[in-house]
Amino acid sequence: MALFCSFTSGSKGNSGIYIQGGKRILIDAGTNAKYICACLAELGLRPADLTHIVITHAHNDHVSALPVLLKRTDARLVCTGTTWDLLPARKGDPILFEAGDSLVLDDLPVQTAPTPHDCLGSCCYAFGSGEESLAYCTDLGTVTADIFELMRRCRNLFIESNHDVDMLRTGPYPYPLKQRVLSDRGHLSNETCAGIVSRLALGGVRRVILGHLSEVNNQPALALGQSRKALQALGADGDVLLGAAAARQMQPPVVL
Ligand SMILES: [Zn+2]
Ligand SMILES: [Zn+2]
Repeated sequence: MALFCSFTSGSKGNSGIYIQGGKRILIDAGTNAKYICACLAELGLRPADLTHIVITHAHNDHVSALPVLLKRTDARLVCTGTTWDLLPARKGDPILFEAGDSLVLDDLPVQTAPTPHDCLGSCCYAFGSGEESLAYCTDLGTVTADIFELMRRCRNLFIESNHDVDMLRTGPYPYPLKQRVLSDRGHLSNETCAGIVSRLALGGVRRVILGHLSEVNNQPALALGQSRKALQALGADGDVLLGAAAARQMQPPVVL
């Protein structure tokens, strides 16, 4: 049995936890240490109980809590060597790798893949195997063959559904930022995400949590609607549990 819980997801901060066996793995450390500690406390945990802190990339919304959080835990940092060099705080004996490597955290298999994103060293992760497996893929402009394969092997998927393309195009972002988000090194749109989710539904994925929704250029109903429509078109909407993570709102823990 494994457990996953999203603490917060979006452009202002990202953090969640994957618990399996004795491993208590914080995935990204955005927002601030106070908020993350409060979420951990909801689960009956203290920062000192964390065994690993896995980082996808060094953008502020994924690492801003590290300087304070690392004072309260001896959890091992897990990230690419490039990300390590970019972190705002470092501590202890990290587990460093190159994006695409396979790792073992204690006895937990972890697969990684490089993500096309405008931050050096970015990657995504797949934790565990079988029913407990979880792919965690956000902050990617496009889904490469390697990322698709990493997702395909997992029963559970946390995937970016960042923006509605029309809302982004007509919204308040300055033009260069719109171009950045839309580029293949930016963020996944609802439409692209829905296409990937429907392709994966033909395989073994059974639970999908949409994440990193833009608060300016998206609405949960739009993101969920697009993926649900794509699943319905396949007749697969009854086979896949679909949900969305929110910003600054701890989700009910999901048992995998
Ligand atoms: Zn981000
Ligand atoms: Zn990012």
